[in-house]
Amino acid sequence: MSISHQLVQTIAKATRVNDANPTSFLSVSIDTRTLKQDALYIPISGERFDGHHFIDKAIKAGAKASLWQEDIPVPESIPQDFQLYYVEDTLQALQLLAKQYRNHVNPKVIAVTGSNGKTTVKDMLSSILTFAGTTYKTQGNYNNHIGLPLTILGMQEDCQYLILEMGMSGYGEIHLLSTLSEPDAALITNIGESHMEQLGSRSGIAKAKAEIRDGLVSGGILYIDGDEPLLTALSDETVCSVGFSETNRIQIKQIRSDSAGFHFTLDSIGDLSIPLLGKHNVKNASLAASLAAGLGVSSEHIQDGLKQVEISSMRLERSMGMHGELIINDAYNASPTSMEASIEALKELEGFTTYIAVLGDMYELGENEKELHERISRSIQAPITHLLTVGQKGKWISDVVSKETTDLQILHADTVHAAAVLLKPLLDKKTAVLLKASRGLKLEQILNDLDESG
Ligand code: ATP
Ligand code: MG
Repeated sequence: MSISHQLVQTIAKATRVNDANPTSFLSVSIDTRTLKQDALYIPISGERFDGHHFIDKAIKAGAKASLWQEDIPVPESIPQDFQLYYVEDTLQALQLLAKQYRNHVNPKVIAVTGSNGKTTVKDMLSSILTFAGTTYKTQGNYNNHIGLPLTILGMQEDCQYLILEMGMSGYGEIHLLSTLSEPDAALITNIGESHMEQLGSRSGIAKAKAEIRDGLVSGGILYIDGDEPLLTALSDETVCSVGFSETNRIQIKQIRSDSAGFHFTLDSIGDLSIPLLGKHNVKNASLAASLAAGLGVSSEHIQDGLKQVEISSMRLERSMGMHGELIINDAYNASPTSMEASIEALKELEGFTTYIAVLGDMYELGENEKELHERISRSIQAPITHLLTVGQKGKWISDVVSKETTDLQILHADTVHAAAVLLKPLLDKKTAVLLKASRGLKLEQILNDLDESG
């Protein structure tokens, strides 16, 4: 990567040094602990820290220059020949610089949002587009007003496809991310219940996600989960619906599953396969495939890309436990919709005698959190043989199930460690175990406990 002095100058009001030999920067950093040699430092003023206080550290770490908020006095310790670009607000300057760099490199930009499945679809798109050209994507979960501009500034100059995950917790956030990245195509995976606290209702969530259209370039298409009425309500000629029902512009047909994963057909592309569990991943893959086809990527590249997709860890991640049991680790995070989707994935498995759903607390669900946990009880059916709930909120699920059914073994543990103790005696090679809970519970630690106890 190289961001030129000239490009940075376009967003600055003034510079401190009249650079006779204009330079360029190998990276952009807001954190002196990870800053690399010859980086441009951008000091951000946060709630607890102000990056301007760390300028000496940035210089020591190898920063070549820094942005500087004009109302903050420049400390005398900064060498006279160290370049400062004065701006009104460093956060806005970071976003503006990202916008300029996006237009300078000018790759095809793809924006992905939705309540669940953003990272999954991002990984699928990246697997496909890598066959078609140089591709860069959001690393980890760098999907907010700071992470997204840093992602844009992290792409190489020869990047042809830039895939941006866009997260949000309230109105206006996706609007900002979309207008600064000006996507050529956008995608909404689904509408769930995450961030209900801030947005009040599912339709509020849909409205906030729909802001992804605000920065779409002219002629850009928005791909949506067409089985979700709150999204099909957005429909016009710039919207392409993808889904299982006949009403979709792109309908997913001939869905089959076997031990290798799912197989299905899209009329516009042909037969596709994914090496993944969960029918919701068929929808995720169809959205990714349809978007790629819309950008002109060949059916062959789409087929190859999906066949080889590797999803980030703890998303329905399969492994074999000490006693030969199948572990499905979906403990990255949870909301009611995603928990229901992963319970369906457990039920779709064939060839086991014991099916254990280990379900923990779901956080940030607002005032309806008890009902939203209780709703999960409706998914607990055959072939599930055991329900093990973990945590105080998780208990709401087993409380309802124990009232409604008797042909299931119901267990509860207050802590993850206690859950491991209950789980261990149930494990053998005929057992499939699903782990699902919100990030805060760290349910995957069950696996460490099981390993340690042997
Ligand atoms: P985050 O908001 O935490 O970044 P994300 O939107 O990036 O989440 P992923 O990390 O891709 O989502 O997936 C998280 C979980 O959501 C998966 O493990 C799976 O259980 C569930 N999930 C993925 N796709 C869907 C979908 N289309 N519908 C419902 N649930 C889904
Ligand atoms: Mg994500």
